[in-house]
Amino acid sequence: MQRSDLLSRIKVIGIPTRTNFRGVSLREIALIKGEKRWSEFSPFKDYSVERDALWLQAALEAANHDFPDALRQQVRVNATLPEVPVARVGEVLSWFPGSTTIKVKVGTANDEERIREVFRIIPEARLRLDANGLFSIHEAQDFLTSLYNKYGHQIEYVEQPCASLSENKALNLPIPLAIDENLRLGDDLGEINRVADVVIVKVAPLGGITRALNVISKLDKPVVISSALESSVGLATGIALAAHLADDVVCGLGTAALLDSDVVKEPLLPHNGFVSVTEVEVDDAAVARFQLSQEQVEWWHNRIANAYERYLTNIDQGESR
Ligand SMILES: [Mg+2]
Repeated sequence: MQRSDLLSRIKVIGIPTRTNFRGVSLREIALIKGEKRWSEFSPFKDYSVERDALWLQAALEAANHDFPDALRQQVRVNATLPEVPVARVGEVLSWFPGSTTIKVKVGTANDEERIREVFRIIPEARLRLDANGLFSIHEAQDFLTSLYNKYGHQIEYVEQPCASLSENKALNLPIPLAIDENLRLGDDLGEINRVADVVIVKVAPLGGITRALNVISKLDKPVVISSALESSVGLATGIALAAHLADDVVCGLGTAALLDSDVVKEPLLPHNGFVSVTEVEVDDAAVARFQLSQEQVEWWHNRIANAYERYLTNIDQGESR
């Protein structure tokens, strides 16, 4: 495909978020119209061209190829609780009706208060803590041991407590350890197998479903498919991967609930603890409503052109993982 052809297939939009997530309050997304369906390219703004190239590879695969066969019609999802004031915890949990597995972002000022509030509202909750690598070894050890002493096995696992794989390896925690960022930033899979009890797999950062399946085949730990605050267009790809896997696990794919709106006719919002496995239909009126300014569109076109050059170079070099 020519670069100009690719750019002619793109709509750039911004959807407001319902909470501040990773400092994002307007989720900027490039939608790509392919042979099979619309797909989504939405790396966060601080990503490198290398990482952008993988996201674009994932988006082009989703746009132009069939999804793998689905083994189920719906996928179980956790609720996702970002850093919000304690008074808003109940409201955020209500966006994920039926989910009793709650992923809580930690490493913030009010971690313990939010966790206490989750258990007040859902006493039987199981927690997945996600530190996004913010803790030192010492902080992780102290904080997670104290939470384990309070809540025991209601803490299912902690995701990426420390930034580097070697720090995470040095931890000796009473709760299982999940690896997220170390996988998508390219750490060695053999070493990840040695360190992780669970691995978080996201389709877009790994370069698409085919590449994600290849990575999963080399992991000997349970995987949890998760999203990166995508619209329903991007979420559909993660859901397709989760529905194709033999293990029916609770996934991190209910995050359409964190957006204030969506660009499809029937958003993939969680109901009864599940999201549907289905093709989505893009709503032209919503795309028009959320269209960004010409200046922002040009910024995204430039970004996508650079990512496409890098993607083509990677393909030429037979790059694979
Ligand atoms: Mg994570």
